[in-house]
Amino acid sequence: MELDVAGIEQAVATGAPPSDSRINALLAEAFAHASKHSEGTVAHYIPILSRADPEAFGLCIADVSGGLHELGDTRRQFSIQSISKAFVFALVCEAIGHERALEIVGVNNTGLAFNSVVAIELNDGHPMNPMVNAGALATTALVPGRTADEQWEAVREGLSLFAGRDLRMDDEVYESESHTNLRNRAIAQLLASYDRIERDPLDVVDVYTRQCSLSVDARDLAAMAATLADGGVNPVTGERVVSATVCRDTLAVLAASGLYEASGEWLFDIGLPGKSGVSGGLITVAPGKVGIGSYAPRLDLAGNSVQGQIATAYLSRAMGLNIFASGSHFRSE
Ligand code: GLU
Repeated sequence: MELDVAGIEQAVATGAPPSDSRINALLAEAFAHASKHSEGTVAHYIPILSRADPEAFGLCIADVSGGLHELGDTRRQFSIQSISKAFVFALVCEAIGHERALEIVGVNNTGLAFNSVVAIELNDGHPMNPMVNAGALATTALVPGRTADEQWEAVREGLSLFAGRDLRMDDEVYESESHTNLRNRAIAQLLASYDRIERDPLDVVDVYTRQCSLSVDARDLAAMAATLADGGVNPVTGERVVSATVCRDTLAVLAASGLYEASGEWLFDIGLPGKSGVSGGLITVAPGKVGIGSYAPRLDLAGNSVQGQIATAYLSRAMGLNIFASGSHFRSE
């Protein structure tokens, strides 16, 4: 329904993150706590992902004043995979605006798997939301550019601005995924049959596969998350990447659907917008405070990094980041 709030200005609640030394201490505690867990398995449906080191674990916090706090394998490179969906959606929102993103891509959960074809059929061909593959493909199709190459360059440059460094594609991951992405090709062609994609659907799959193959490390993810926490300005480079409104919209989508079918449980436990990917990366955004990036490739049954979730849950509680948590106003008087 229409909520009739168009002319009402967005006020922003503030609240300072803890001091640097406190963040470092809590990061060490969260890392040690999550390190005790070895449940889960690395993804293998994209062949090259099964070669990941299951023991790798890196955890990084980027605060909105530009500080970086890191521990473990934060320099280990991996492919960004589904986490790219969050940032490509932000870039597309910036290009086409809130209303059109809502109408064309949508923001509701499908209740079905991230790569579901059935979800498209059940919803009259609508892709439903940008964090499932149908919506992500529909979003990538909307990236400005005359050709697929121009679109790809726009994605690469945009995500590089979020990270604050020049990101490159991992060719091996791209090759591996290009040979096995039959399902994504089917989804794109199904969307095109419903006129939901106006470009060549296989070109769209190619740009999407490239965006998923961008190589990042946990520090990059923390900086990208911190940019969403900082109203669209990268706190390390000081460069504006998207508007504060686009950040707000993107974070709403991440809160609702960032952790596959476990998004509700994630929000219940952690209370923050986040996005995970099958290679084991995870971003979490505490608006106005910090971005958290982690890499730990062992995944739970929903496809989310086990150690990443545990470390983030620890930090959310210990740092007081849960956006739904409040204390009594009267208690402090
Ligand atoms: N490139 C992967 C796919 O489209 C991304 C999956 C994911 O990280 O969820 O299947």
